[in-house]
Amino acid sequence: MGYDTVIGLEIHVELKTSSKIFCGCKNEFGGEPNTRCCPVCLGMPGTLPVLNKKVLEYTVKAGLAMNCKTAGFSKFDRKNYFYPDMPKAYQVTQHNLPICYDGYVDIVVGHEIKRIGIERIHIEEDAGKLIHSSDGQDSLIDYNRCGVPLIEIVTRPDISSPEEAKIFLETIKTILEYIEVSDCRMQEGSLRADVNLSLKPKGSNTPGVRTEMKNLNSLRAVQRAAQAEAERQARILDAGQEVYQETRRWDDHKGESFVMRGKEESMDYRYFPEPDLPPVCLDENFVRTIKKSMPELPGMRRERYVNQFGIPKYDAELITQNKHIADLFESTTEICGNPKLVSNWIMTEIMKRINETGEMILESINGENFGQTLLLLDKGEITHASAIQVIDVLLETGEEPVKIIERLNLRVQRDETLVEDTITQVINDYPDALNDYISGKEKAFGFFMGKTMAALKGRGDPSQVKRMLAKELQKRMNQ
Ligand code: ADP
Ligand code: MG
Ligand code: ZN
Repeated sequence: MGYDTVIGLEIHVELKTSSKIFCGCKNEFGGEPNTRCCPVCLGMPGTLPVLNKKVLEYTVKAGLAMNCKTAGFSKFDRKNYFYPDMPKAYQVTQHNLPICYDGYVDIVVGHEIKRIGIERIHIEEDAGKLIHSSDGQDSLIDYNRCGVPLIEIVTRPDISSPEEAKIFLETIKTILEYIEVSDCRMQEGSLRADVNLSLKPKGSNTPGVRTEMKNLNSLRAVQRAAQAEAERQARILDAGQEVYQETRRWDDHKGESFVMRGKEESMDYRYFPEPDLPPVCLDENFVRTIKKSMPELPGMRRERYVNQFGIPKYDAELITQNKHIADLFESTTEICGNPKLVSNWIMTEIMKRINETGEMILESINGENFGQTLLLLDKGEITHASAIQVIDVLLETGEEPVKIIERLNLRVQRDETLVEDTITQVINDYPDALNDYISGKEKAFGFFMGKTMAALKGRGDPSQVKRMLAKELQKRMNQ
């Protein structure tokens, strides 16, 4: 393509406070429709909002984690528009004085670190939900989500490919999970992104016309939608036509986007300061206290894993992408004492099972049982294959590894006489293979090795079997 792709994201994050932003209603996903609302979050005339202090705390936490400045003075504004899921006909948001601004987040693209600017992070309230009947005849409204606290993270247009957009969103998700301000369940809508995208001739400094794609709710959808939009705009520009500035809706099933509406300007919303809420004056002490209580962030953990545990950068990068997995790595290493062994197993067997079954497996596997399994493997008490079996069983039954090993008789068989007898038997059973070996065919050794291990039901100690087999074969050669 003869174009540079320019992308900026607007990311909406539902904060996991226990109550809503301006009232005491419960803030939780789902629930019987319209049971978690009150006159305040329904926006009845005469009611007054009161800001939830936790919302300020969580927003400042997110701002600090994304290297933002915090505003000593910020305020709320009304963004006026009509839509049935918003009974007040305005949304309380922060228009020109957001609480956090001017930050950045570093992402890892291939082997490079790339810095993406954060323009602002502001606070706003979520709207309700429309539920359309499958026959297209009715639409129902659930106001439970009205007044759920949101932050909106707005990036600078620093992202230059659909892949980077996905990596960026993934990085933001990881950070938010580490600082524990949102559960980031994209499938439940608690993290969703709008993709702004434009093209410009390669190397040009003049920005192109951008479109905005609303409410993407998976990492994959962000990447696919951005890819399809870049291709669509390229086709338009190649044909010598103009891209219109508009808002579009992505259909993930069809893999296409559709026009929703022409781009609205801020004057369309007639923003004005929210008269029912006082401005926010952030106390320096408040910010300092949060700063002090900030947990370790993914980038810091990555560095520490390399320095403290000596695992490769690549492993550290992969493991720290998910806080629960990183926690598992640390607690397992504490018990098993071999960090590289643990990271290998996490990157293969554990990640494979997470991809297949989902993250809930992390509720059954923990540093204790995983650490015991790997410790026994490391000491040569069980084989690699048995360790995999133990993990599958403990995920299924929750049994302790040692009990599983006893019950299934998985302990490595080191009885010299038994191993010797088995080897003798195997060699006698395959005289052709023995002749091959004697005539110099190295492959026959592997054959005997496999047969012996199978005869020992996979429980032989490979190094012992190898040593004794070599000795026995040598003896036969000399006969
Ligand atoms: P609005 O409030 O109208 O949505 P903003 O200026 O706040 O507009 O920008 C919204 C998003 O669009 C930001 O993430 C920004 O980085 C991105 N953006 C701005 N200009 C461009 C552009 N030319 N191409 C792609 N994205 C852009
Ligand atoms: Mg916008
Ligand atoms: Zn309420």
